[in-house]
Amino acid sequence: MRGLVWFRRDLRLHDNPALSAACKECKEIVPLFVFDEPLLASQVFGSVCVGFMLGCLEDLRRSLAEQGVTLVWRMGEPIDTVLRTVQECAVDAVYWNRDYEPAAVARDRTVQQRLAQQGRLVRTFKDHVVFEAEEVRGLTGDPFQRYSAYRDRWWTQWRSAAPPLLSVPSSPAASTAMKVSAWPTVQELGYESVPMWIEPGEQAARARLQWFLKKPVHSYVSGRNLPAQDGTSKLSPHLRFGTISTRTMVHAALQTLSKGGQVSRPDVFTWMDELVWREFFQQVLMAFPHVTEGPFKVKPGLPAPRPAGPERDRLFAAWCEGRTGYPIVDAGMRQLNQTGWMHNRVRMVVASFLVKDLRIDWQSGERYFMQHLVDGDVAANNGNWQWCASTGTDAMQGYRIFNPTLQSEKFDPDGHYLRSYVPELTSVPTKWIHEPQLMPQEEQIRVGCRIGSDYPEPIVNHRQARQEYLDLGKQKVST
Ligand SMILES: Cc1cc2nc3c(=O)[nH]c(=O)nc-3n(C[C@H](O)[C@H](O)[C@H](O)COP(=O)(O)OP(=O)(O)OC[C@H]3O[C@@H](n4cnc5c(N)ncnc54)[C@H](O)[C@@H]3O)c2cc1C
Repeated sequence: MRGLVWFRRDLRLHDNPALSAACKECKEIVPLFVFDEPLLASQVFGSVCVGFMLGCLEDLRRSLAEQGVTLVWRMGEPIDTVLRTVQECAVDAVYWNRDYEPAAVARDRTVQQRLAQQGRLVRTFKDHVVFEAEEVRGLTGDPFQRYSAYRDRWWTQWRSAAPPLLSVPSSPAASTAMKVSAWPTVQELGYESVPMWIEPGEQAARARLQWFLKKPVHSYVSGRNLPAQDGTSKLSPHLRFGTISTRTMVHAALQTLSKGGQVSRPDVFTWMDELVWREFFQQVLMAFPHVTEGPFKVKPGLPAPRPAGPERDRLFAAWCEGRTGYPIVDAGMRQLNQTGWMHNRVRMVVASFLVKDLRIDWQSGERYFMQHLVDGDVAANNGNWQWCASTGTDAMQGYRIFNPTLQSEKFDPDGHYLRSYVPELTSVPTKWIHEPQLMPQEEQIRVGCRIGSDYPEPIVNHRQARQEYLDLGKQKVST
């Protein structure tokens, strides 16, 4: 049998169910990657994300080549392109790992139907998550809407049926001889070439996991909140493109606990629970696909966003460019613009600031994040934006409004993170770093940072903005 393995969000050889099954069941395989031309043209993602994906593909191409297998690429609308390649290679069966984004689900359903009409075998696999939505359900059989209940059920499920890991197929099937032109560059895909600060590919993901589990994970509970520290795994881009599986990460983390030595159980479990958060948002997207179009739940008392117009555009531009006059917000947005990544604590602060202080619709922030994040993922991005906007699955009554200054003082007390992304503040003394607008005039001149010219005045007064938000909310409840 000749099988085609359609790689999508699973750019790796280890623990890859579709690849393993194809290698077991077929004499010959055609590994395929399709560049989704309409998606690339839509510029939903940014250069750093596309560049990272190309790096992962290059790593996969090399690993397959070492096994004597050629990774084939095509460019076009994915449905037609896959069907054409299937015809061209005369394959009997097509293998892929499932994707749960609504657009991908619709695409895959069409491909599956058309292949079935042609009498070809289609084999799809669970891979992107440890447990699919219907595997983690409450007593009523309904999907969970609260993370804590979902997490408890998720762990019960793991304890009763922990999924095994698949090794790299040891004798992969022979590759069908195919002509493959040179792989496109990021510029040829219509994007800019930007320096990669995080190494793409499967080998890099596995090395990063090992490094993280050796030390940083054992102080994760405190370390994960400090943006100046390398205290988190930074594996999110790898999970986005599937250069490592979540199964591998959970098994490896649990193994560190059984090794003895200096391990911290609460820290390791807190980190694994973040992986469960990721799955929680995946299942929210699967069970409630309307979240991509609007709020998960319409909650009474949420103030309407600021109306469209020049004032809204001015405030939004200042947020995007990191010119709000709030150092923690500006550092976060500049980190995002420069590197394609932002620390989770700071993501929460900038999101709250956009929605609650500036009263700009959360979807504008969600879109901007997708266009700039290296780890941009519909489920995680949407779920977190809705959480920050108080429209999502958050169990909290009322609103959560972050105070950017207090967050900055608490989580970056010495201002190391602020100074590394906002160079205007480099010489501002720590005493003033969180609220530089309070610096006396003579101090501003002395340190070479004049507020209003070298660094902006705060674009809104947080205390007033917060009160306005709460007052608008009350009016809405009472009308
Ligand atoms: C407004 C906003 C938007 C976000 N957009 C995205 C996004 O597009 N893609 C994305 O992967 N994450 C997103 N996150 C979640 C989180 O910020 C990142 O997953 C995390 O910062 C990645 O860093 P890490 O790999 O070092 O995480 P670690 O702290 O090492 O955590 C391990 C893994 O757990 C998962 N995880 C951690 N926190 C969360 C969370 N809050 N929600 C879901 N999964 C989580 C990630 O897969 C992460 O790689 C967003 C958070 C906010 C507040």
